[in-house]
Amino acid sequence: ILERPAELISTKPSPNFKILCRLFESLRDKPQKRKEQITSMIQQWRDNVGLDLYPFFRLLLPERDRERATYGLKETALAKCYVEVLGLDPKSEAGHRLIHWKQPRPGDEATGDFPSVCYEAIKSRKSTTEKGGLTVDGVNILLDKLHTCRDRKDHIKIVNMMMHELSPEEQRWLIRIILKDLKAGVREKTVLSAFHPQAIELFNVSSDLKRVCWTLWDRHSRLNEKDSEVTIMRAFLPQLCKRLGSTDLNTVVKMMSNKPFLIEEKLDGERIQLHKKGDEYMYYSRKGHIYSYLYGEHVGTGTLTPYIHEAFGKNVRNCILDGEMLVWDPLLGKYLAFGSLKSAALDTSQQEDAPRPCFKVFDILMLNDTCLTSYTLRTRREVLYSKKGEHRVFEPVQGRLEMADLWEGRDASDIKDRLEWVMENRGEGLVVKNPLAPYELNGRSEQWVKVKPEYADELGENLDVFVLGGWWGSGKRGGKISSLLFGLRNEQEKEYEGQEPTFTTFGRVAGGLSFADHKWLQDQHGHHFKPFDRENPPSWIKFGPVGLDDKPDVYIEPDHSFVIEVKASEITPADGNFAAGLTVRFPRVKYIRHDRASKAGHATQEGDDENAEEEKI
Ligand code: ATP
Repeated sequence: ILERPAELISTKPSPNFKILCRLFESLRDKPQKRKEQITSMIQQWRDNVGLDLYPFFRLLLPERDRERATYGLKETALAKCYVEVLGLDPKSEAGHRLIHWKQPRPGDEATGDFPSVCYEAIKSRKSTTEKGGLTVDGVNILLDKLHTCRDRKDHIKIVNMMMHELSPEEQRWLIRIILKDLKAGVREKTVLSAFHPQAIELFNVSSDLKRVCWTLWDRHSRLNEKDSEVTIMRAFLPQLCKRLGSTDLNTVVKMMSNKPFLIEEKLDGERIQLHKKGDEYMYYSRKGHIYSYLYGEHVGTGTLTPYIHEAFGKNVRNCILDGEMLVWDPLLGKYLAFGSLKSAALDTSQQEDAPRPCFKVFDILMLNDTCLTSYTLRTRREVLYSKKGEHRVFEPVQGRLEMADLWEGRDASDIKDRLEWVMENRGEGLVVKNPLAPYELNGRSEQWVKVKPEYADELGENLDVFVLGGWWGSGKRGGKISSLLFGLRNEQEKEYEGQEPTFTTFGRVAGGLSFADHKWLQDQHGHHFKPFDRENPPSWIKFGPVGLDDKPDVYIEPDHSFVIEVKASEITPADGNFAAGLTVRFPRVKYIRHDRASKAGHATQEGDDENAEEEKI
């Protein structure tokens, strides 16, 4: 348990939240001076407020505030709270605008940025305080309360408090904090390095802002060796993968310095680190959130620990394993899609045949108090695999605790062969790893590279599909269509001459559109998209029976629409979400095709794309 050092207790008043809001604005507007501004604010805080920077840092880096991991409030829920607190009719123009904050309106710059749409709604109310006045401590107390809210009634109370105690500008920043994205362009590395030269080191091994603030409050202090190592029962920040920006697999080989490399499957689950200390277990997510209450803190509790405890070697006093939590279905004899993890993790019925969490291990960072991060990956894998019997870290238990498969590769053809295998086995992709690299905490470098089938030109499914509608984007894509609903034309209806064609929804795609494609979409078709009314959808589109994924914000009539070529890793069952009964996995737009568009999506002379009609499915 971490205790606040006595030196950090201050009698000086907490500063006004307004001062932080001014800093946030300035950080956003002057990106080249971010480090300078943060350094100066830290100094002012130390001089005028005290030596405890934690109350400030958790507001500056809300996504890293582990003690208030989630507020259970996203844009739509917050919009509904504001509609109620502001006394708006949800069907009125103002209410509609708040709830449908992504929907563009002529001349409206706030569209797509929820905090700004909210700000405008708040500002237009006479009753709001213009002055604000809440201190940083006051804001932290308010957020603590929000964090413990159980239902909508509680949420509304907090939003009411915000209305009374914060100015519209301050509320805009507070909403960003609640949504865990300050949008001021601040990264933890900038903040922490301005605070203390070893702050990043400690943060990487603890993922704990409070620990960093309370341990390194004195700039001249230094960590002892043990403090900068991963520690049992303390979440570290795991190594992540670099994305391969090219379709040429030789690039990966070069990244591996043209030396032999290791190939693992990219598992489609949740990144989890398992800490074991005798009979006690801790499970942490990638961001350091604790999941032990699900999987089991002790031998007899949870949906995983009881089934794996005996699998560990008798000599294993403690260890830290890194891997991916998947769901294993014993009846089907296969892993299920990531979406089923939550229900499997919560299912305490212990039924023999029920889908269950299965931890697939690909790394080991500690064994019997020895930290292994500085050893090469090859050595770490040897520790995991080689020894037998009681010296082995664990004996795999099928469907509960397994070892991730590993292959050796030397050139691009080895990666391609493995990618083909991944496709056949409906996998997500591969992670190519440098066997000579140590474990890089919080790193995303060329030592681990993710390769997905859809990157490789010759693999995957290429389909020409018809655009039926779209969804409004947010942030940078605010006010613009950011993803497209596509479908298939119902062939049989060609028989009925003169009848309008009908279409069956088939999938949704966001990735792959270039800046030029987005511009083309906006310029050529922006005015063709019409608001989609869920109560009264166009009769020529057939929707899935569950239909959670195929109800767009806007639709486009066939006469104005166009064809896109979509590349996907595979075709999978749609589980009722799309009318075609099937849908695509990991889709990306490869080309926009239209009888007026060239492959790159730029407008061309009519008739240029002769095949356009035939390409419609
Ligand atoms: P994506 O959206 O493609 O999953 P991401 O941004 O979530 O990517 P990346 O850093 O690109 O994350 O990929 C790392 C993630 O890949 C890890 O958090 C982990 O959950 C997952 N992963 C799956 N299999 C492996 C593996 N064999 N080795 C390392 N990471 C893996």
